Amino acid sequence: MSEAVPTLEDYRDVAPPGTVELLRRLSERVRGRRVLHVSTSGKVGGVAEILRRLVPLLEEAGVDAGWESLDGEEAAPQVAVRLHTALQGDEERMPPETFDDFRTFTRARAASLELTADVVVTHDVLPAALVDARPPEGAWVWRCHLDVSRPQRRAWTFLRQFVVKFDAAVFSLPSFAQRLPIPQFLVYPSIDPLSDKNRDLAPSEIDAILAQLGVPRDKPILLQVARFDRFKDPLGVIDAYRLVKRQHDCRLVLVGGAESDDPGGVELSADVREAASHDPDLHVLELPAHARREVNALQRAATIVFQKSTREGFGLGVAEAMWKSKPVIGGFAGGITAQVIYDVTGYTVNSVEGAAFRARQLLADPELCARLGAAGREHVRQNFLITRQLGDELALMATLLR
Ligand code: UDP
Repeated sequence: MSEAVPTLEDYRDVAPPGTVELLRRLSERVRGRRVLHVSTSGKVGGVAEILRRLVPLLEEAGVDAGWESLDGEEAAPQVAVRLHTALQGDEERMPPETFDDFRTFTRARAASLELTADVVVTHDVLPAALVDARPPEGAWVWRCHLDVSRPQRRAWTFLRQFVVKFDAAVFSLPSFAQRLPIPQFLVYPSIDPLSDKNRDLAPSEIDAILAQLGVPRDKPILLQVARFDRFKDPLGVIDAYRLVKRQHDCRLVLVGGAESDDPGGVELSADVREAASHDPDLHVLELPAHARREVNALQRAATIVFQKSTREGFGLGVAEAMWKSKPVIGGFAGGITAQVIYDVTGYTVNSVEGAAFRARQLLADPELCARLGAAGREHVRQNFLITRQLGDELALMATLLR
C-alpha cells in the first residue's frame, strides 16, 4: 500500500518555525529544473528510505524530480555489498573479478537508463560508474552515505577514478570527506516525521501491532532495528542484553534480516537465530521492507533503542528512535556520533560491557530515560527532519546550477 504524500504545509506544525517559508523561497530558485536520483536499491536500506519521501517532496516544491534504482540484476548486489564493506574498512581481499563485474554491470545499466537532467545525483557505489556515460549537459553529484573515513585502499582507489569525474561530492559527516579535486558538501540524512515509519500511533494501534508480532509488553523492551550486517553488530547487542538480563528482567527485540544474495548477512542471520533459539524473551523478527508501521510501533514500545554499529554512515534508526523520545545507546561510529549527544540524547559506547552498563543505568532510572528522550526528539526536530534535508538539496541544486 503506498503512503499519502504530504504537502509542504503539512510540515508547518512539526518542523522548526519558519521552515516552510524558507523552503518556498529556496524552491523559487530551482522551480521547473530536473533532478534525477539513482540509487542501488529502490526498496532496502536507508537510501531508499530517504528517497521514497524526498523525491515526492522535491516535486511538491516545484522541481521535476525522478528516481531510478539498479534493483533486479543478479550479480549487482554481491558486487555492491563487497565494495560497500571494503569502503567501510573491511580488509578482506576482494576477488579481482569484483572490479570487472562492476564495470560490466554499470556499462549495461547505463545503456538502459535515460540520464538527462539538470542535476544527476548518484548514491553510493554501484551507480557511481554511470558517470562514464554522462551526457554533455547537466551537473553530476556523487552522494556518499557510507562511512569512508578508513576505507580499504584498493577499493577507494578503484572508486575514486569515477568520483573525480563528478562536479561535486556530498558526504554525511565532515570526517568522511576525502582528498578530491572537486567541491565537497556536507548533508546530513533525515527522517520523515509524517511517514508511516515515524508518524504518531495511537496506544491501541501499538498494542495491536505488538500482539500481532508476538511480542508481549510485560517487561521493558530493548530494541535494535538494523540489517543483519557485521558492522551493525547484532551479536554484540545479544551479548549486552544477556549482561543486562542478570539484573533486570527485560526482552530484546532484533528487527533485521539479510538479502539472500548477501552470504555474510545470511550467515550472520543464522548465528543470530541460533543465539536466540533458547530464549523466549529474545525475539528475532525478519520483517518485509514495507513493514513500516510495525517498526514504528516497536520503536514506540521500546524502553531503550540500540544502534550498536561499529561502522555507520548515518544510522537512520537512531533518528527514528529519538523522534519517538527514546534514549539511544549507539556504537561510537560514523553518523551515530552526530546524533547521540553523550548524556543528553543517549550514550555512545565502545564495547558490549559499555552498552550493558548504560542499559542497566537507564532501566533503573525512568526519569533519565524521559530526559534523554525529550532532548532526543528536539535534537531531531532541529537537525534531522526531511524538511531540513529538502532545504539542503534545493540549496545544492541552486548552487550547482548558478
Ligand atoms: N529497517 C527496517 N527493517 C529492517 C532493518 C532496517 O525497516 O529490518 C530500516 C530502518 O528503520 C532504517 C533503515 O532501514 O529506516 C536503515 O537505515 P540505516 O541508515 O540505519 O542503515 P543502512 O541499512 O542504510 O546501512
